[in-house]
Amino acid sequence: MTVLNVLIAPHPALSTKAAPATTFDEGLRQHLSDMAETMYADNGIGLAANQVGILKRIIVMDVGDDNSLTKNPTPIKPQLFYFINPEIEWESDEKVIFEEGCLSVPGQCISVERSASLRLRYQDETGKEKTETFHGLQARCILHEIDHINGKTMLDYLSKLKKDLAVRKLIKHYSSN
Ligand SMILES: [Zn+2]
Repeated sequence: MTVLNVLIAPHPALSTKAAPATTFDEGLRQHLSDMAETMYADNGIGLAANQVGILKRIIVMDVGDDNSLTKNPTPIKPQLFYFINPEIEWESDEKVIFEEGCLSVPGQCISVERSASLRLRYQDETGKEKTETFHGLQARCILHEIDHINGKTMLDYLSKLKKDLAVRKLIKHYSSN
């Protein structure tokens, strides 16, 4: 497994819509394990392929076994998910505002309103179709990562003025990316 370089906004790969994954082979499984390794190395709870420059609809997630939507969840056991070609089938009317971070937007937290629960259809690493309902931190993380594969980051929830300011800060501190 390899720790990959995480791209920082406003990198163009982060504003590009990713294409469906069509082959479920060793190459895909290598991407998945590299992405998981990268997420763990950076203490993230989710990572979308766009963030490491792979424009495929692939997401890894591990919020651990504490799915509570609190500032300091205390996960003990890992619970790793691979979502390939995820599609939201249903979202709850109940919305929650919660402060998010993003490995591609280091040093910044943004409050985003999202659905509290959702039902997700996706394929696993072998191509098998699955449907599952998610709540709490997992639902929040999935919606954040699906934004990424659609070419959207949490910065897009800000007003234009605030977004410009946030982007300028990122360029100033991370211009090597
Ligand atoms: Zn993110």
